[in-house]
Amino acid sequence: MAKIGINIATGSLQQAEMIVGIDLGTTNSLVAIIHPESKVPVALKEFNSSSLVPSVVHFDGFGNPEVGEAAKQYLETDPANTIFSAKRLMGKSYRDVKEHADLFTYKVIDDDTESLVKVQVGDKFYSPIDLSSFILKELKERAEHILKTPVNKAVITVPAYFNDAQRQATRDAGKLAGLDVLRIINEPTAASLAYGLGINKYEEKTIAVYDLGGGTFDISILKIANGIFEVLSTNGDTYLGGDDLDRAIVQHWIKKVGIDHNGLKINKILAQSLRLKAEEAKKYLSDHTVFQAELNGDQLSLSRDEFNSLIQPLIDRTIDCCKKAMTDAGLQTNDIDTVVMVGGSTRVPAVKEAVSTFFGKPVNDEVNPDEVVALGAAVQADILAGNNTDFLLLDITPLSLGIETMGGLMDVLIPRNSKIPSRVGRQYTTHKDGQSGMRISVYQGERDLVKDNRKLAEFNLTGIPGMPAGLPKVEVQFLIDADGILVVKAKELRSGVEQSIEVKPQYGLTDQEVEQMLLDSITHAKDDMVTRALVEARTEGEQILGVTEKFIAKNPDLMTKEEMLATANAMQALQLALTMEDKNLIQSKIEELNEITRPFAERAMDQAVGAALKGKTL
Ligand code: AMP
Repeated sequence: MAKIGINIATGSLQQAEMIVGIDLGTTNSLVAIIHPESKVPVALKEFNSSSLVPSVVHFDGFGNPEVGEAAKQYLETDPANTIFSAKRLMGKSYRDVKEHADLFTYKVIDDDTESLVKVQVGDKFYSPIDLSSFILKELKERAEHILKTPVNKAVITVPAYFNDAQRQATRDAGKLAGLDVLRIINEPTAASLAYGLGINKYEEKTIAVYDLGGGTFDISILKIANGIFEVLSTNGDTYLGGDDLDRAIVQHWIKKVGIDHNGLKINKILAQSLRLKAEEAKKYLSDHTVFQAELNGDQLSLSRDEFNSLIQPLIDRTIDCCKKAMTDAGLQTNDIDTVVMVGGSTRVPAVKEAVSTFFGKPVNDEVNPDEVVALGAAVQADILAGNNTDFLLLDITPLSLGIETMGGLMDVLIPRNSKIPSRVGRQYTTHKDGQSGMRISVYQGERDLVKDNRKLAEFNLTGIPGMPAGLPKVEVQFLIDADGILVVKAKELRSGVEQSIEVKPQYGLTDQEVEQMLLDSITHAKDDMVTRALVEARTEGEQILGVTEKFIAKNPDLMTKEEMLATANAMQALQLALTMEDKNLIQSKIEELNEITRPFAERAMDQAVGAALKGKTL
């Protein structure tokens, strides 16, 4: 039962626990709730204003942050102290964002390292987490003001391609803003919830969610059956959105009007004005055919046809992503029942047309594409509040997750495109006698050798009691929670020693990198197989050498001098083979050594059995 409280300030009755849904967007952010009476999701707004809060932070002369529309005004007049698109920096290093550095009109610290990016304003440094927390704090305060009740709990949405580090960063930003982040959910999943898809338990549908926002593009293929949402595949591009459409217009004007490109680099205020004019033109062209304006004495014009041909390559890139997502889901376009449009940029008529043509059906765009994600987050918040228990959400992992095993091989525990939440365990053992520690290195990627994949984390399981090699049983467990955060646990089952780690990789992967990693795994599949076979043969050879050495040391009197010599020769031959790149040679030398040592092994066994029987009375 929901608790009821009384607001002392207003005397009004209120629900004690209000969980809000937040869309923390690249361009705009907003808060939504399920209306307590009408039970429908609504975006919160002050009377007579927009529900959208620009994701812009401006710092005044004293370093005090100001967020939203008020901050946005400073984009032109005070660009160095006005931070926009901070979401693009979430969980990234300077190296990650270097390529796009000229997009920032503010100072992004160029330390050319892999440590997390910082923004400098005056003499202060801010992380993207700090900047996002200012936006979330503003949203929280706004919601409290409108609802006249404290807001402490939230569901926050992130792009489907956000990795663990970026999800964690978003969570941390929420915490900094004083919010208990109950769940991080993917934006496309939220959008389909907002469309009420799956409410009818008997409905089975395959849905494509096409989300072109200000800074990111995501395509997700979802399946709804029995009231369960399952993400079949996702694809996208974290560097493709409305900002790019604006940029295409800016470039066009620079060329057409002859604006000095170098001059723009110096004159950041003019650059900003041009950017805002371009956005204005783009929006205008969603409902009109010609845009005309003046800036600094230059005549700026753009027709819808010109605009369409400027953005065609960008639209084509989104359609390519759609094709890949369909292939990953193993579906044809006519398997898609419903296409849902999300993000302000889907208002562009040419975008709608291209998507509709690709999927061969009209698109759904009735719900406001700027609000749809927040509305869905509110639906999820309602589910978490216990008001709606009919849903279960499942997402998938974009890349395989595994650990390093002997010889630098990748042992996959959770394959790519697995559903999350997910838990997998596998047993490993030691390869040296008395080994008291085991290093667990966690990797993400599709290649057979860990050196070609991406390291996420590493820890040591220590305190394994001394045991012969092969005896300890170390169970490694991978657990991905519903937010896509990975926890790795290692436990030695005989002694019970255990260790775990929450994986928060230092910085993220872009979609292109994910794609490149997948492509590389295909291109190198054959080489990888050869290398894996060689590494496995070497590991086996080394193990057999170790065991034989131990046997000789322990049972010298079981062997004749000749046998000893033959064994030493075979061992030497195997040792030599291990230094070469020939798996077949290694295997034949292993066989030869085995042939020679088999009789002593049998003799040793007989002796052991004899000894065991000796003391027994029958
Ligand atoms: P979002 O990240 O979903 O808030 O998307 C905002 C993006 O949508 C920005 O790039 C806006 O310029 C763009 N946008 C908003 N309204 C329109 C419109 N009427 N036509 C075209 N693009 C729009």
